[in-house]
Amino acid sequence: MNIQENYSLKNYNTFGVEASAKYFSEVKSLDQLTQILRNTSVQKFDLLFLGGGSNILFTQDFNGVVLQLNLKGVSERILNDNEVLVTSQAGENWHEFVQFCLNKNYGGLENLSLIPGNVGTSPMQNIGAYGTEIKDTFVSCKVLNLETLNVEEFDHEHCRFGYRESIFKREGKGKYVILEVTFKLTRKDHVIKTEYGAIKAELNNLGIENPTIQDISKAVINIRQSKLPDPKLIGNAGSFFKNPSIPIKEFLEVQTKYPQMPNYPNGEVVKIPAGWLIEQCGWKGKQMGNVASHELQALVLVNKTGFATGKEVFDFSTKIIESVTEKFGIDLEREVNVI
Ligand SMILES: Cc1cc2nc3c(=O)[nH]c(=O)nc-3n(C[C@H](O)[C@H](O)[C@H](O)COP(=O)(O)OP(=O)(O)OC[C@H]3O[C@@H](n4cnc5c(N)ncnc54)[C@H](O)[C@@H]3O)c2cc1C
Repeated sequence: MNIQENYSLKNYNTFGVEASAKYFSEVKSLDQLTQILRNTSVQKFDLLFLGGGSNILFTQDFNGVVLQLNLKGVSERILNDNEVLVTSQAGENWHEFVQFCLNKNYGGLENLSLIPGNVGTSPMQNIGAYGTEIKDTFVSCKVLNLETLNVEEFDHEHCRFGYRESIFKREGKGKYVILEVTFKLTRKDHVIKTEYGAIKAELNNLGIENPTIQDISKAVINIRQSKLPDPKLIGNAGSFFKNPSIPIKEFLEVQTKYPQMPNYPNGEVVKIPAGWLIEQCGWKGKQMGNVASHELQALVLVNKTGFATGKEVFDFSTKIIESVTEKFGIDLEREVNVI
């Protein structure tokens, strides 16, 4: 077991902010993981698990043990003519996993192409994009219970998925490490999801009328590359805030003042795009010190100069939250995990 001391996490978070871990280790197997967790010196410290570091903001050094999960491997089990179960270990890169499935012509994950991060983290916030969430194809995941150090299996219901939510972000927070995830994918009767206007428009651009799952992936990649900043070029963690959902009654009140407000009714609540709210408050493209709201997508906060501290990003996000509350009476919630 190789444990490093006072280890820089700058290359382990896509914001690219400087922070250090008191102890750091890369974990390549379940055995290695349990060995570290049984170590009585390790047990004295707080633990933090890291995947690709694309949904985390370090506002301070971490005075504990950071374990980067690098468990690798993908396996598959054909269920019938049309269905296959595909299981990926936590440390596989999400986009490479999606491409692996597409190369085998397994459908269901194509709309989630190019989302950064690792497979093991995908259930944490039920990652989603372009009309799809992992809950649509998720079957189960294996987790390590940090109290008992037993491996447990969580099925779909047990994970309590919601919009950018799961048990792992709520009552199970800090209690489990996700080790592997299994998805049920299609082998031939693929469900092509093009209801998002941007996908239709991009398929048009590409001159594709009857898209395959591979075409959908290509369209999603093109759209994402055209409007989202690449963390390798400019530090960011994607959408910094969740899109708020407010009760219909509250929405109707605020709509009288802002009739042009985009809205997506969903049962008893109405979802409002956080990017629109932020833009209306004048934040789109605005820079303060080393931090900015991205000029093409207000919802994405960026480490504009490369020298931002996590605290600066956090303070910038607080100012945005305050101004949205003041103007619309709507409270934004951070999607990014703040440490
Ligand atoms: C440019 C960009 C675009 C993005 N677009 C999207 C998008 O379209 N949709 C979307 O949903 N998200 C999006 N994201 C956010 C991010 O990619 C996802 O949330 C992703 O799942 C994070 O994975 P990660 O491995 O990088 O997580 P990390 O940042 O490493 O970890 C996130 C949290 O999960 C915990 N954690 C990590 N691994 C495990 C594990 N195995 N078990 C238990 N806890 C764990 C960490 O402690 C931390 O609290 C985007 C991010 C970027 C930078």
